[in-house]
Amino acid sequence: MSCKEITELVTDYVEGRLSLGQRFRFQFHLGTCRHCRAFLRQMRTTIRLTGRLPDAAVPPSVEAELLARFRAFRR
Ligand SMILES: [Zn+2]
Repeated sequence: MSCKEITELVTDYVEGRLSLGQRFRFQFHLGTCRHCRAFLRQMRTTIRLTGRLPDAAVPPSVEAELLARFRAFRR
């Protein structure tokens, strides 16, 4: 599972809608990727503050910033 997939699946993960296999791969990725751990933490904070999930899974601006960060991290 890639960082991009994590950003796409994070709301389903938070809401417990992933299949067992997906959840396993999701958590495995989190275990190896601190960027996605930070991303998930940020997502949970947003949910706690607003009381609901953001309307879009990931706002395009946030996704662009995340992907840029991931690329920088891999270099
Ligand atoms: Zn990642």
